[in-house]
Amino acid sequence: MKTLITLLSLLASAALLHAQADPTSRSWNQPVEPYRIVGNLYYVGASDITSYLITTPEGHILLDGGFVETAPIIEASIKKLGFKLEDVKILLSSHAHFDHVGGLAELKRVTGAKFAAMDRDAPLLARGGKGDFLFGDKDPFPPIQADRILHDGDTVTLGGTTLTAHLTPGHTMGNTTWTMKAKEGDRTYDVVFAASTTVLPGVRLTNNPKYPEIAEDYAKTFRVLKSLPCDVFLGSHASFFDGLGKADRLRKGAKENPFVDPQGYKDYVARGERKYLEQVRAERAKP
Ligand SMILES: [Zn+2]
Repeated sequence: MKTLITLLSLLASAALLHAQADPTSRSWNQPVEPYRIVGNLYYVGASDITSYLITTPEGHILLDGGFVETAPIIEASIKKLGFKLEDVKILLSSHAHFDHVGGLAELKRVTGAKFAAMDRDAPLLARGGKGDFLFGDKDPFPPIQADRILHDGDTVTLGGTTLTAHLTPGHTMGNTTWTMKAKEGDRTYDVVFAASTTVLPGVRLTNNPKYPEIAEDYAKTFRVLKSLPCDVFLGSHASFFDGLGKADRLRKGAKENPFVDPQGYKDYVARGERKYLEQVRAERAKP
């Protein structure tokens, strides 16, 4: 019996480790130096898979937990910046995919924080990614139950900092764009943690029985993204906003903070919308 249990747990961890099985995932999950982006906002993620720490006098907020294997990188980064894991009070997520929420269950365990999630992603998070409209059961992650269910426009406040959850669906049904204001010196910056607008390979935007309203959802997402004021442009993959390049320029003492990039944000949204419209057109031309 004991052997059987050992075997079963080995199989379970093998399934979870699959997140790191391919070279792309591994290249996304390299450790990088943590740093302060602006005001009370810090980068604690990996090379491409992002995670953000928002510090306040009443504890901290952590946005995204990466792969299962990113959790130790995030924990080390928080400590390296001089913050305590147990001071993280609230966990948030961008969207319920294994490369962004895989580490959250572990991070919840070590911090004791409460997890708040968008209503339309919460069931998928609680199922550990099973029954995803695209992945089915093949990209699971440790399930995580939301302590608070968020709806479009809801806010999360801690120690004087407020984050707003904007439902920007399509990439997942509950895909969330977070916004906040960061203060530095006498300036206040509008920060946007932009949702992924990527239409993954294999996703149909028309005649999709698993997600019939997907095209309308993406259209809503682009409307919302275009309406948001943005100074500091961030997202769930560093590649969306040239995070590595900007971090390097910041480290080398750039006079203007490279993360202040309103044009980069506009370009990102326009690029995403163009690709989406092209795919809709192509599908309609050849149903
Ligand atoms: Zn994703």
